[in-house]
Amino acid sequence: MTAGAAIPLAKPVIGDREIELVTEVLRSGQLSLGPMVERFERGWTERVGCRNAVATSSGTAGLHLALHALGIGPGDEVVTSSFSFVASANAVLFAGGAPVFADVDPDTFNMDPPRVEEAITERTRAILIVDIFGYPAELTALLEIAERHGLPVVEDACQTIDGSYNGRKLGTHGHPAVYGFYANKQLTTAEGGVVLTDDDDLAALLRSTRNQGRSDDGAWLVHSRMGFNYRLSDVHSAIGVAQLERLDDLLEGRARVAALYQHRLAPMSGVSPMFEGPQPRSWFVYAPRLDASIDRDAVIVSLGARGIQAKPYLPCIHLQPFYRLHLGHRAGTYPVTEAISASTIALPFFPEMTEHQVDRVCAAFSEALDEAGGR
Ligand SMILES: *Cc1c(COP(=O)(O)O)cnc(C)c1O
Repeated sequence: MTAGAAIPLAKPVIGDREIELVTEVLRSGQLSLGPMVERFERGWTERVGCRNAVATSSGTAGLHLALHALGIGPGDEVVTSSFSFVASANAVLFAGGAPVFADVDPDTFNMDPPRVEEAITERTRAILIVDIFGYPAELTALLEIAERHGLPVVEDACQTIDGSYNGRKLGTHGHPAVYGFYANKQLTTAEGGVVLTDDDDLAALLRSTRNQGRSDDGAWLVHSRMGFNYRLSDVHSAIGVAQLERLDDLLEGRARVAALYQHRLAPMSGVSPMFEGPQPRSWFVYAPRLDASIDRDAVIVSLGARGIQAKPYLPCIHLQPFYRLHLGHRAGTYPVTEAISASTIALPFFPEMTEHQVDRVCAAFSEALDEAGGR
């Protein structure tokens, strides 16, 4: 047994500034549709260098709005990744469409462009790109395929906050990109999201559909189209404004912890550290891959006994009970996705993690790997 307090998987960084701005909103009496939402959105347009940021009640809501804006409906297929959080494919279902999965690249874990091309049929209406684990998908190849087939693109960048591809921020590549701000993300509003887009007409539509389809002139209780209640409150936005002020520090903290892990895991047998490629990674999770011979679930149990929280991450979407039962999916369809999903393990990872904590996790991890056998 390793001594010391339990180490959690994730931990948000909340300080006096977040409390100060939330208090300011609460005292102002304007809890929603107020100036703090606009301040949060302005913070994003300035940070990313895009024309519009439309804040939403969650990343899932942002994805749904972006797909709804494309007019996705019954009979329409959207090509996306199964190696993602269930929200990306669910957003297609919300819009009435059918998610069609493309297998992923074994290094980046993102959709493999040739597999995307194969998944396109005459019913395909869009491509929902996912940037998983903070590493951007192959945008050049994917956007070329989308253009050749005349398909619009939405990017689920919920795990890749402040990410960029070929030196340009996500959200500035000609299609909307969506971030999510749940408590485990690089930046949190407790719950929340944002759609980034350079398209002013799309932004106006999203502002209306997130607010019950209210008319564009802002007239009260005039609903010109069907809409949703996907607004982000000013209370949540206040947390976000404070988090944006220190986003560089939050991201640097994660990158620092990731570098410690990468270095310590490199010489361990039976484990592959996370992929490092030509694009920068916005570090979201630390989820190395185990050799197929190692019993991952036994490693997780063994880590738990040592006070280290770990999780199988990510379970693939097409093998979720709902997707098997109601959408007819089964194992064996996306071999790369399934192999990755069966062998990646999320270790404790948060910006304020100390080097001592990383050492404790790595020592326990090494022992757990030995115990689980296979190396
Ligand atoms: C977090 C996340 C979302 C959005 O989640 P919300 O909890 O709705 O904000 C969407 N897609 C991926 C890949 C995510 O990780």
